[in-house]
Amino acid sequence: MRVGVVALQGDFPEHMYMLRRAAEELSMGVEVIPVKGPHHLRDLDALVLTGGESTTIGLLAKKAGLLEHLRDYLSSGVPALGTCAGAILMAKEVRDAVVGPTSQPILGVMDISVVRNAFGRQRDSFEADIDVEGIGRVRGIFIRAPAIAGVWGGAAPLAYAQHPRAGRVIVLAQQGPLIASAFHPELSSTDLHRHLLGLAKK
Ligand code: GLN
Repeated sequence: MRVGVVALQGDFPEHMYMLRRAAEELSMGVEVIPVKGPHHLRDLDALVLTGGESTTIGLLAKKAGLLEHLRDYLSSGVPALGTCAGAILMAKEVRDAVVGPTSQPILGVMDISVVRNAFGRQRDSFEADIDVEGIGRVRGIFIRAPAIAGVWGGAAPLAYAQHPRAGRVIVLAQQGPLIASAFHPELSSTDLHRHLLGLAKK
């Protein structure tokens, strides 16, 4: 099996490491491929969009001629996991908690609306135990994280967080084989990477 990790900016080394660990735990043979250009999007069984800075990743993807290809690839039914900035890129609607509407390049492949910086500034980053439907409890690490403000159409919430200021918000959503996470599973456990490999195996 071949799994690509978009490697333009952000924490792609952590995702590559966790995918290899998840594969080992599941006794699956997985080749992990850093995706830097459209030519890397061939014969992949799954794809990861990393955390980082969604504006930067979107602009770099555009510059690399990757944005349209990624959009087509994700629309073709390949399983994908987008974490934090990656989840922002996958959403059809994006706004920022402070500045409102953003005009950043996005992929727009999931029926979710996302609010960037929903929990405050960098110093308001936090950790919380998150109960994920069908998976169990995972440690959620939220770094200047977005919240999933709404889901519609084919998307469904998989997990919520209770936050002192933001209230109860969706932090994980799935639409068919696409998963958007507001937090960083690549920094805590292999659960979501194993879930992704399971979707790719189907
Ligand atoms: N705040 C970042 C953004 O809006 C996301 C942060 C992250 O990926 N940890 O893109």
